[in-house]
Amino acid sequence: MHKFDYIIVGSGLAGLYAAYKASFKGSVAIITKSLLRESNSFNAQGGIAVVTACDDDPQIHKSDTLIAGRGLCEEASVDILVNDGPDRIAEIIAEGMKFDTEGGALALGLEGGHHKRRILHAGGDSTGKWTTEFVISKVAERPNVEVFENTTLLDLLISDGVCYGVRCWSENEKLAAEGSDNGSEVLLYANHVFLTSGGTSAIYARTTNPETTVGDGLAIAYNAGCRIVDMEFIQFHPSALYQKDSTKAILISEAVRGEGAHLLDKRGRRFMVPIHELAELAPRDIVARSIFKQMQKDGVPNVTLSLRHLDSAKILKRFPGIQAKCKEYGHDLTQEIPVAPAAHYTVGGIASNLNGRTDIGRLYVCGEIAATGIMGANRLASNSLIECLVFANRAVEDSVQVGQALQTPHFDKKFCRDDANSEAYVALKSEISNIMNRYAGIVRSEEGLTKGLNKIAALKAQLEERVAARGGECREFYEEASRRLLTVASLIMTPALMRKESRGGHYREDYACADEAFAVHSVQQKGKDITTAEVNANCFNF
Ligand SMILES: Cc1cc2nc3c(=O)[nH]c(=O)nc-3n(C[C@H](O)[C@H](O)[C@H](O)COP(=O)(O)OP(=O)(O)OC[C@H]3O[C@@H](n4cnc5c(N)ncnc54)[C@H](O)[C@@H]3O)c2cc1C
Repeated sequence: MHKFDYIIVGSGLAGLYAAYKASFKGSVAIITKSLLRESNSFNAQGGIAVVTACDDDPQIHKSDTLIAGRGLCEEASVDILVNDGPDRIAEIIAEGMKFDTEGGALALGLEGGHHKRRILHAGGDSTGKWTTEFVISKVAERPNVEVFENTTLLDLLISDGVCYGVRCWSENEKLAAEGSDNGSEVLLYANHVFLTSGGTSAIYARTTNPETTVGDGLAIAYNAGCRIVDMEFIQFHPSALYQKDSTKAILISEAVRGEGAHLLDKRGRRFMVPIHELAELAPRDIVARSIFKQMQKDGVPNVTLSLRHLDSAKILKRFPGIQAKCKEYGHDLTQEIPVAPAAHYTVGGIASNLNGRTDIGRLYVCGEIAATGIMGANRLASNSLIECLVFANRAVEDSVQVGQALQTPHFDKKFCRDDANSEAYVALKSEISNIMNRYAGIVRSEEGLTKGLNKIAALKAQLEERVAARGGECREFYEEASRRLLTVASLIMTPALMRKESRGGHYREDYACADEAFAVHSVQQKGKDITTAEVNANCFNF
């Protein structure tokens, strides 16, 4: 029997930092779907929002976060983020993390929605890579952490509302049954399970996320009974490189606009100037929607990001990684590049209290998968990496209070896998992604969302018919993966249909204004009708 004190699902910053911290409390297993470095965290560019300058203050960071969150932020969570953030950063700097400096002091960038320069960055535009590599190096120093790559979470082992471990499919030679060609089902047990498997944006056709980010953990937790909050709020990043005939969307960090880049329409005019006082640095939802509308107005698939007027040497020094990507696709960042919005960040997630606890005992969540209420209806740029550090640390500290599980119940294996079914999965994934882009994208409507939900229901019925016709004893890997995608699609569209207003990352063309009646969280729980919860009313306190 494989048993650990902690199982961490996912190897993004939330998972890695939780693993590092947990390793001081007991043994740790990290399981990750693909390779250790395959995560949004690794790809993060712009930086980490945290107060370090003496002319800045956590209260200003809080105020910026609340403004971006459009009335749905849980203030207690935001207070923790802005006040604990500087401590976490001081700690990792003391342990050896190197952020970029200027004249001996931390270099501070500016991003959309921030009223102060407070964005720490590393390696220029490779903050995610540098920070993740740093935490990986700390994890590697710990003798009691085992990493299992190519190991996919399939389900949680739950008995009487308590989580005792995970059911996964592993192609990792340390775990998979000997002689199995395409891996095998493995049960791993732990005193505490941390779900840090990230968001859902790769369920959209055009996304900045890697293909692993399709919301597995979210669907699994929903099926296990966790409340799922605010899933209608999807952040579409305004500026991802546009490439004809490709859904791959390379992110052009907001920090590029922070350095002064201009967004131009097809006539070369700065169309953001009359729209918002912060122009190109207005909050993300406003910039993304304005670009989308400008593209529709001009009948073009992209707008232009122009850096011609900026100091090329400075741009090349600050954004070497982005320039390398641009060059790969035949563009030059110091001149003009075509950009269009892409699905980027999942604002909602699994309901979590201030210490990462969920509706299920011994199951913690942190990072993008968690709904702590920090992001409200829209994430303030660069607030997510710092959320990973702050809340992973809190969850580990909390787990110590919970202590060890007394007795582990017995769980049977249930899964099989037929790789001949992977093609059907890929086709279904593409169909779902197109539905999401078309009906649950930047601009939504009652008619579109109803159509989208009906299409998802029809695909689900077809899938279940195929499953029934197959018969058999086992739960098939690809059928289960297909069910998860359909669940996630429905978890996004159901509250989007309910929310008859526009707010943050959710825009309805049929209800274009915010409506105070909807200044509430949406809450979904399996077997129950969708409902709402008041903001700042301890609804996540359990
Ligand atoms: C291109 C890009 C740039 C960004 N830039 C910034 C930035 O500058 N600053 C900022 O604050 N935020 C940024 N963000 C957002 C930020 O990167 C993410 O919100 C954050 O990294 C999420 O961290 P995480 O640990 O929760 O999840 P992730 O980093 O997404 O990691 C999730 C992990 O879970 C694994 N996983 C998924 N499903 C399973 C499964 N079924 N079984 C096992 N493992 C699984 C994945 O493989 C991955 O290892 C950016 C995002 C993108 C996409």
